[in-house]
Amino acid sequence: MGRAAHAIGVKVAAGRLTGVRADLDGTHLQTFSAPFDETAVNPFGALSELLAPHVAAVDDAPLLGVGLGVPGFVDSRTGLVEAPLLGWRHMPLRDYLSQLLDLPVLVDNDVNTLAAYEHLYGLGRPYDDFLTITLGQGVGAAVVSGGDLRRGGHGAAGELGHLPIDPEGPACHCGRRGCLETYASDSALVRQARAAGAVGPDAGPADLRAAADSGHPGAQEVYRAAGARLGTVAAGLATVLDPQAILVSGEGTLAWTHLADGFLTALRAGMFPPLVDAVNVHVDPWDDTKWALGAAALVLRAPFTMNAEPHTDAIRARLAAFPGAEVTQ
Ligand SMILES: [Zn+2]
Repeated sequence: MGRAAHAIGVKVAAGRLTGVRADLDGTHLQTFSAPFDETAVNPFGALSELLAPHVAAVDDAPLLGVGLGVPGFVDSRTGLVEAPLLGWRHMPLRDYLSQLLDLPVLVDNDVNTLAAYEHLYGLGRPYDDFLTITLGQGVGAAVVSGGDLRRGGHGAAGELGHLPIDPEGPACHCGRRGCLETYASDSALVRQARAAGAVGPDAGPADLRAAADSGHPGAQEVYRAAGARLGTVAAGLATVLDPQAILVSGEGTLAWTHLADGFLTALRAGMFPPLVDAVNVHVDPWDDTKWALGAAALVLRAPFTMNAEPHTDAIRARLAAFPGAEVTQ
């Protein structure tokens, strides 16, 4: 019996990091989470220090590498990470972290890693064409079409949070005004609820949810309106891309009972009519471990892809260097 190949997958979010060590069959052998200061002077050094003990803990099996999901995208022209939500611009995350950890590192958009999880292990398994829409600190999307993730011509496909809604709208962290995220992210919902007097000036997302749970009509209206805006946008995406299903996920789904009516009503009203009854909608309960597992899967699948990218070759080489290593599939 050989030793199964492992990978470490990490979801990087503002203030928080969630990781797993996983087998290819989706079994997570270990999970970990830690506070993470993305605004630190050297955030990659901090990331490396947080990951080093988990890398060192794997001594009985080939560790192929580390996969990272970040709330941004990897520019396919430069290989650099653009993650405005973290304040990271033109950051050489992959190469720098790979040097610090002395391991192959792959980086992808975090919603792409979630979609990889869904397709391999989750609600996306029955589908070759689906959309993943995520709600929370930001608003994101991933497109799986013909069984493959679509990253677009520059690596930035699925930046749903920056869909333009109103050029005169609230300022967005991307530098523009009135993006979808400025109406439907967690912080946008809280801002609207504070302005409407539905919650106090120091309230956060959990306070807004509690107000809506207790029946506060102003709080419930904030969610309904945001749900309707998201539903209209999802209807547009579905009309263009014709998915078999829309999967809604992320921390924002904790308030799904309040978002659902607005979302589903607007989705049905806005979608190309012949598709209305043909597109399934599933809500996947929030769990950051799934995103991290998808990030690990990027690494575990790499030896079997045709991708000739240098870090993919390095992962293949590590697998080949362990005689008797087995990759369960
Ligand atoms: Zn924006």
